Amino acid sequence: MTIKEIFDTMDYGPAPESSAEALKWLADRGGIAGHYINGKWGPLRDDFASYNPATGEKLAGVTKGTAAEIETAVAAARKAQPAWAKSGHKRARVLYAIARLMQKHARLLAVMETLDNGKPIRESRDIDVPLAIRHFYHHAGFAQLMKSELPNQEALGVCGQIIPWNFPLLMLAWKIAPALAMGNTVVLKPAEYTPLTAMVFADICTQAGVPPGVVNIVTGDGETGAALVAAEVDKIAFTGSTEVGRKIREATAGSGKALSLELGGKSPYIVFEDADIDSAVEGLVDAIWFNQGQVCCAGSRLLVQEGIAERFYTKLKARMDGLRIGDPLDKCIDVGAIVDPGQLDQITKMVSANTEGETYQVKAPEGCFYPPTLITGLSPASTLMQEEIFGPVLAATTFRTPSEAVEIANNTRYGLAASVWSENINLALDIAPKLAAGIVWVNGTNMMDAAAGFGGVRESGFGREGGWEGLAGYTKPSGTAKALKQIAAFTTEDGHPADPLDRTAKLYIGGKQARPDGGYSTPVYSPRGKLLGHASLANRKDIRNAVEACNAAKGWSKTSGHLRAQILYYVAENLSARAEEFATRINQMTGGRGGAEEVEGAIRTLFTYAAWADKYDGQVHGVPIRGVALAMKEPVGNIGVLCDDAAPLGGLISAMAPAIAMGNRVIMAASEPYPLAATDFYQVLETSDVPAGVVNILTGSHAELAPTLAKHLDIDAVWSFSSSDLSAVIEQASAGNLKRTWVNYGKALTPSARDYLAASTEVKNIWIPYGE
Ligand code: NDP
Repeated sequence: MTIKEIFDTMDYGPAPESSAEALKWLADRGGIAGHYINGKWGPLRDDFASYNPATGEKLAGVTKGTAAEIETAVAAARKAQPAWAKSGHKRARVLYAIARLMQKHARLLAVMETLDNGKPIRESRDIDVPLAIRHFYHHAGFAQLMKSELPNQEALGVCGQIIPWNFPLLMLAWKIAPALAMGNTVVLKPAEYTPLTAMVFADICTQAGVPPGVVNIVTGDGETGAALVAAEVDKIAFTGSTEVGRKIREATAGSGKALSLELGGKSPYIVFEDADIDSAVEGLVDAIWFNQGQVCCAGSRLLVQEGIAERFYTKLKARMDGLRIGDPLDKCIDVGAIVDPGQLDQITKMVSANTEGETYQVKAPEGCFYPPTLITGLSPASTLMQEEIFGPVLAATTFRTPSEAVEIANNTRYGLAASVWSENINLALDIAPKLAAGIVWVNGTNMMDAAAGFGGVRESGFGREGGWEGLAGYTKPSGTAKALKQIAAFTTEDGHPADPLDRTAKLYIGGKQARPDGGYSTPVYSPRGKLLGHASLANRKDIRNAVEACNAAKGWSKTSGHLRAQILYYVAENLSARAEEFATRINQMTGGRGGAEEVEGAIRTLFTYAAWADKYDGQVHGVPIRGVALAMKEPVGNIGVLCDDAAPLGGLISAMAPAIAMGNRVIMAASEPYPLAATDFYQVLETSDVPAGVVNILTGSHAELAPTLAKHLDIDAVWSFSSSDLSAVIEQASAGNLKRTWVNYGKALTPSARDYLAASTEVKNIWIPYGE
């Protein structure tokens, strides 16, 4: 190229990064990526290969981990865990050492990542590696602070961690840093396509003085992952596809293993007419062409307001024409290679199958590259608007009004992230809370940081990674819970009703007493055989009606904490006025003498959550941008609860009060053996201004109600404190819509108020950069 030509085109010259050091690093280790168990390498076998997707060259042989090797790694982690959990300060020093060594080897890590994954070196060097390092620094701090700030929490034990290929090192950091900080040890399985930076990381662990067994890495494929899921671990932390996430939910159901799932997404990128259009176009480059669109939170659905749509598309196409696609090791490249020909195939098939709208593509080189693509004129229901493509393909549609934008944005089974572009801060901040997403970026995209939780709602999974909220996923309340004995109803009868009038308690649905759909009821006896009354037997149709009532009461979630507090105080006042009657009822049913104390406790509980209703605040996270990340606490939605059997009133109130204080609507399955305190409680609700549908109360068999509650797609969470052990059934059935579950595994849980409040809320991080 002549100098004149360079001036004419103003094109970039090649600026290649050398791969020599990284290839030598691999060659020095025999060209094999394999296990790092108990601080030692091996076995190392050439079972399959990892390729450079940009060139097709083999980079290394990879060992496929067997179930036995997983067991060995888990045993090493188990042995190392108690000592590792002892000193937060020691852990902080080790995590700090890891961060420092990652900085020292940053270039090697970046080049290795680009070679293995195909992402542009500009991204691995400036985004993946620095963010991974930041995660270790940040969590060194959490290790130091654990004892003082989380005094009642302890490590879970051994965590099995499974990560995908799109951000191999960053996902490793997101998983390992918090686990180690909280005193857990880990067995991590990298993705089949991209195990190489995990090898460099293992080497760094040795250099940083990580005690043997604290970090174990087992390479392999999906079968190795499944073996890890089945192993004797205390938690599985998974990032990957919704399909595999669902399988893992089913596989771990009832095992007592903690689970966090960070799954797919189809995140909307909403551009209002008053947006800074050039910035919004530039934002899209990061939203959908960053990492070739292989990003779970990619802004893959463009929703643009009708009045500017044509102008916006024209500018976007011009910007697409300027994208540089090619050798990922070239520092001037914007879009690199797709991770593997298999993934390329999948993207190609999905786009070719589409017959709707207009497709605009720029040119891509031959090989494992896919051209940046824009498809306009799609209907919200079209496959490409609904399904995750996981490639550099942007599906676009238009909207007219803000409310239509919200409707289209939320028309998805996912709920990971969203971007809102508008120069009107009132509009942007009005829209952000209405979006079903765990993360919302205002006038920005793909901002992530160790200080702010990352994770989704709906089928994008549950749990958060990063920030204070992420620590909950790697800790549990200290101490051991006692086993719970199943409480059976009294069945002997002496033939004498306590009261000659027929007392058949109905269900309470949508603010009204309702006869059970099945028309059946069951007698409730005192321990001495007196007939106390009859309780209705609810069935699946009653649950459906209760869900409808919950949905009709959605307005409750938008009320102020102040209002909810007032109503809870009022419930407490009205219960207090009838304390004696409730105490007698409880004593009659249980045969005990603790009724008065239980009622008093229930009143205190109502006061406690009335107090919290307007005080369980969010946070402002200190993220390294010119701006803020607001961690807002939002209600989960509709919660189904199987109440504690032992405490007929206390068990109902202790779950109902925090849930409704935080703005949820609830379906409470009352104590199965002692249901009549819950049914008496209707009158208290009716006289306390609780809006219809906010609290629905059912009576009947927990075992029959549990699967329907857990399967219902419009129920967002199920909690079980029942003395019937229904944990496995609930977790298994919850896989359908990946609802949140909080179950007791047959143990007597003693959650703190904060545990209840955390279960009653989702954290949404709203990022608001500022400045002109
Ligand atoms: P997967 O969900 O299959 O893989 C994620 C991780 O899970 C990998 O380490 C994988 O191993 C492992 N794995 C696979 N099957 C099992 C199993 N049965 N039990 C336990 N672990 C298992 O995603 P893919 O990599 O196959 O990608 C498929 C699609 O998933 C993509 O096209 C994309 O749509 C989506 N995806 C979403 C991601 C996200 O962050 N939301 C990330 C990656 C993919 P291995 O890689 O060795 O097979």
